[in-house]
Amino acid sequence: MASLFEKDIQFLKGVGEKRAQLFRKLGVDTVGALLRFYPRSYEDWSQPFSIAEAPYDQPCCVRAAVASPVSESRIRKGMTLYKFRVCDGLSVMQVTLFNNKYAPQILKEGQEFLFFGKVAGSFTHREMSAPLFEPASRGARIRPTYSQTEGLSSRMIENAVKNAFLLLPERIGDVIPEDIRAQYALCPLRKALQEVHFPSGMAQLEQAKKRLMFEELLILQLGLMSLKGRSRAENSMRLRISPVRDFYSLLPFTPTGAQKRAVNDCLLDMTEGKSPMNRLIQGDVGSGKTAVAAALCYCVARNHMQTAFMAPTEILAEQHYRSLSTLLETAGIPVALLTGSTKAAQRRAVLAGLENGEIPLVIGTHALLSDGVAFARLGLVITDEQHRFGVAQRAALASKGTNPHLLVMSATPIPRTLALMIYGDLDVSILDELPPGRQPIDTFWVDSGKRQRAFRFLKQHIDAGRQAYVVCPLVEEGESDMASAQEYSRRLREEDFTGYSIGLLHGKMKAAEKEQVMADFTAGRIQVLVSTTVIEVGVDVPNAVIMLIENAERFGLSQLHQLRGRVGRGKDKSYCILISDAQNEEAKRRLSAMCRTSDGFQIADEDLKLRGPGDFFGSRQHGLPDLKIADLLTDVTFVAKVQDTARELLEADPNLDAPEHRGLRAEMRRLFANVGEGGLN
Ligand code: ADP
Ligand code: MG
Repeated sequence: MASLFEKDIQFLKGVGEKRAQLFRKLGVDTVGALLRFYPRSYEDWSQPFSIAEAPYDQPCCVRAAVASPVSESRIRKGMTLYKFRVCDGLSVMQVTLFNNKYAPQILKEGQEFLFFGKVAGSFTHREMSAPLFEPASRGARIRPTYSQTEGLSSRMIENAVKNAFLLLPERIGDVIPEDIRAQYALCPLRKALQEVHFPSGMAQLEQAKKRLMFEELLILQLGLMSLKGRSRAENSMRLRISPVRDFYSLLPFTPTGAQKRAVNDCLLDMTEGKSPMNRLIQGDVGSGKTAVAAALCYCVARNHMQTAFMAPTEILAEQHYRSLSTLLETAGIPVALLTGSTKAAQRRAVLAGLENGEIPLVIGTHALLSDGVAFARLGLVITDEQHRFGVAQRAALASKGTNPHLLVMSATPIPRTLALMIYGDLDVSILDELPPGRQPIDTFWVDSGKRQRAFRFLKQHIDAGRQAYVVCPLVEEGESDMASAQEYSRRLREEDFTGYSIGLLHGKMKAAEKEQVMADFTAGRIQVLVSTTVIEVGVDVPNAVIMLIENAERFGLSQLHQLRGRVGRGKDKSYCILISDAQNEEAKRRLSAMCRTSDGFQIADEDLKLRGPGDFFGSRQHGLPDLKIADLLTDVTFVAKVQDTARELLEADPNLDAPEHRGLRAEMRRLFANVGEGGLN
């Protein structure tokens, strides 16, 4: 019965206008959305402990009878304590409740209850403060806990879900076709929903989760595969020659072993692969991914095919344009730039050159995706800093050719399961070697009291001919980064760094201004560049050796690592100074991790631990739709099973037209409705 699922949340008993508003805040606007609003965790009331056996300091359930009258004491206005003892026949525990005026009526001496909370005290004196409680006769079950919002508690949500189930018919439509359910022993939707909210046992809960995860991943996979629709295509853009040595002779340095291996992997895919290349190059910041990309652009051009190279920001696109055009134009390969700020006349010339095939390489931002852009013979699509793009955007660029080769480059290490989900059958090359002569970056964390000392340190290096970045405080919501960067650079210019040349860079500047500032910085005409996080990805100025980050606690760990990656790119020793007065434990852990290691894999690992897998997904770092139940802890074989299923389904019914597949199709469209916008800044 689809109609109940689509009914407004206010349709439910106990949900008035005000509460409906709160539900909407949680993203729950219909009864269906409520049923899909899965618990965040569970309280296990099903196997209560005795007082003596209950673990200390972790939430647990204790079964005991009330063993004294409930005493009431008002300690101040608005704060009344209720104290009583409970006993399980062997031991005694003291219980305290706050402001619960019904306690004396409910908690009758001699009656048995379940108390859920943390046990504290000593071995001889156990106590529990502010537990939840229920009569023992009906409380023994696993209870859901929901993400709550102010004014809407987990218990209120639980009650609303209960009411929804009362209205739900015994038989409901199921998006997973019956044969697939049978094949993988997945329970029906009705049961899965029931058990995920109100588990009858741990095993049943696992069953329900497995089914819901399968469903969610299946829909995700179907969407991704339809977007791609290319995995089994012919390699129609086969390279015939690989003149990579000629390219290496153009470089001002010798490529590292890792760079050569990555280039060879790609060339092999493109010359001999059965289907088009589909490869990820993963290498930490500064490992030299751009040179790998350039080698491939060169070879593709020599094969009379075109490359589209997409970067997430204009600054980065311009930088790639500058370095690749210098390199390749000496070899007679013209390079074009196309961004949102390319002037109309220039844009027309670029579009014409791409369409008639005279331009073999175009570097750009998502402007490359726009309708007017067409290619004569698109052989290769490269996306830099892949994690900034949506899956759909990569597919959109590829669709401008006939099954071109795909290369994605990323500094963000992604866990294997996630990679499998996002990229399907993507091959991976890892740049596990930094160019020679790099020295480790020293990172310090100081409080704002030491700012002047940090400034003196900066000046020492600037006086020696080096340059520095100052990343401006990320501001609170409402204020803009821009204002704070402007103000900060003014202060440096007029107060702390008089006599030095200070530049300013932020996202709201016109493209031409940004370009000018970056050109000045690259050429050394700017000594200190005050910037917002627009320099976060990709920017490469090897003479800049110090980065100072203000309010460092406001940044995520991976972001700090990306920022820091702007220094340490040349032969000189580099430094990163984090200024922060952080008190919060989690922030302190982030900052210490930054001081401890500069290894991207370790950072990603720590980041995953700190943020938890849910957030890793939720932050839209990867341009994926939000997932509700599946996470990174899902094991790889499970994902592989889902992938097989999706592939079989699409082989049999490419557009999911069959009546039993229409539910899947509808869900897929819903999940992907917003994907195109995710991940771009
Ligand atoms: P990332 O992997 O972060 O994109 P880049 O491609 O921007 O790194 O390279 C970082 C810097 O290292 C650039 O200045 C580049 O010229 C330099 N570089 C790349 N490969 C080598 C190499 N093999 N030897 C010396 N320097 C290199
Ligand atoms: Mg890069």
